[in-house]
Amino acid sequence: MTFAERLKGIEERIAQACLRSGRNRAEIRLMVVSKFQGIDRIEEAWEQGIRLFGESRVQEAAEKFSGFKETHPELELHMIGSLQRNKAKIAASLFDCVQSVDRESIIGELGKYAAERKAPLKVLLELHTGEESKTGFPDEESLLRGAEQALGFPGLAPAGLMTMAPYTGDTDQVRSSFRALVHAQQRLKKEFPDSDWSCLSMGMSNDFEIAVEEGAALLRIGSALFGERRQGDGQQ
Ligand SMILES: *Cc1c(COP(=O)(O)O)cnc(C)c1O
Repeated sequence: MTFAERLKGIEERIAQACLRSGRNRAEIRLMVVSKFQGIDRIEEAWEQGIRLFGESRVQEAAEKFSGFKETHPELELHMIGSLQRNKAKIAASLFDCVQSVDRESIIGELGKYAAERKAPLKVLLELHTGEESKTGFPDEESLLRGAEQALGFPGLAPAGLMTMAPYTGDTDQVRSSFRALVHAQQRLKKEFPDSDWSCLSMGMSNDFEIAVEEGAALLRIGSALFGERRQGDGQQ
């Protein structure tokens, strides 16, 4: 199957999930997760009208997208993987948004370097809601402290929340993970009503339909669009 065919299939499933839950497709953004994919596959997605891409490693994103960004100014590039402090400087200039903001030390580093940007760096706060890898703020209290800290940096523009549901066929567990993110969003809206918390980034290849039903604003889809990644499948 080609990228275009896979995309069509995904769009049909998003449309069905919207119908089931009374949602409007226009409220939901589709991000193509291009980690491990070469520039030829990225071009293929671009030709299908995709403008929003997600990468999980700073170095790989810089190698693939620095030149691409200049020739494709409409590109919107987000960081979705765990960010190391020593990569915060590059991240703050390369990405339009960092979705994986998961601890106070990273907020401090991003806030410092983002001050040099023309427009503020969008950030999403990542909440740990039950996925094995343990990334994300561990609970709502630490998330609220992170929000307050992020709002103190003029170079940062908090825009919402991100989570990864556990990788399991147990849909109840996946659903409760997404509901935990919605709950956290409601608390942030109450605590910081003058800020924007509208973006809920949740839903991947194996669980995006549940995410749509639970209120996702941004879906992050990789393997369902590019085909399964093989182990050690670096650049193809
Ligand atoms: C890899 C990744 C995705 C995409 O996963 P697929 O299962 O390939 O759709 C989404 N979000 C994050 C944070 C990822 O690391």
